[in-house]
Amino acid sequence: MNERDDAGCAALYFDGVHARAQRVRLHVAGDRLEVRGEQVQRALPLADVQWPETTRHGALILRFADGASAEVEDRAGFARLAAAAGVREGLVVRAQNRWSLALGALVALVAVVALLVTQGVPLFSGWLARHTPPALEANLRDAVLALVDSRYLEPSRLSVARRQQIRDALLERLAQAGEGGEPPEILFRGSRIGPNALALPGDAIVLTDELIELAPDFDGVFGVFAHEYGHVRLKHGLRGLYEALSLTMLAGLLFGDYGNVVAAAPVLLTTLGYSRAREREADLEALRLMRAAGRPPEAMARMFEALAGARAEAGRAAPPIAFSSHPPDAERIALFRSAR
Ligand SMILES: [Zn+2]
Repeated sequence: MNERDDAGCAALYFDGVHARAQRVRLHVAGDRLEVRGEQVQRALPLADVQWPETTRHGALILRFADGASAEVEDRAGFARLAAAAGVREGLVVRAQNRWSLALGALVALVAVVALLVTQGVPLFSGWLARHTPPALEANLRDAVLALVDSRYLEPSRLSVARRQQIRDALLERLAQAGEGGEPPEILFRGSRIGPNALALPGDAIVLTDELIELAPDFDGVFGVFAHEYGHVRLKHGLRGLYEALSLTMLAGLLFGDYGNVVAAAPVLLTTLGYSRAREREADLEALRLMRAAGRPPEAMARMFEALAGARAEAGRAAPPIAFSSHPPDAERIALFRSAR
């Protein structure tokens, strides 16, 4: 391994006593490092040479056991010298160690980001949804309502008296279920997307005339209303919005000018829809409220069936946040049918 290295390598030699540098050439001969210059001729055991790490910038300095040193600028020459001395392997190993260290740091970083995204963002979004200023939520509500009004809805054909009667009946059931606090705002609209209901930010729920006309009984209307109320109370819209906007936008929303976010949010909110987990949460909330109000959960199952029949006739596709955009599967129907 330790072959004669004839080419050698130019270096500046310091004897460790004087500051003056001497021009020398370094050679590897057998198990010795030879230092040859006009005023210095040495042959040191390779074991007494401390080799520098090659990845550092600047000059490479070999240090000798007696305090002398040699500074090499010629990196190619140094590589040849190191190879002849058989230290290449050691250098490569060190480089690999550093690489695996860097890889480890990268993996750790990815893990932290993943944890942030899977745990931190939902937690933070939930916190932010609960602490969103009412004025901002009201702005969002108006913007989302304007958007769905222009694309999917039209004015309600129900009389003012009829709307108030339905509103009173729904809020009465909510009160029977023991729900205190500020009641949600209930809005009525005609529909271009069939029988439907929507939950908006700012605790507002839209019910369509078509949904009320379709319902086999009023408990079915209450079931759908209670599902939307679940979305409202659990702040599903805002949470989903904040999660989608992610941390960068959240920082702007919290600390900066949130005008742009408010402008982009309504479209995002209507197109996002809710996750399956949130639909299930809203269903469970509906079930809880129906039971607590003493209404048969079975009414919700009958409502699902009536909606399934009407879906084929519905005109244009409803936005993902609309009730009809997440049709009930067998599991959802069974949840209400088997409940007492
Ligand atoms: Zn829903």
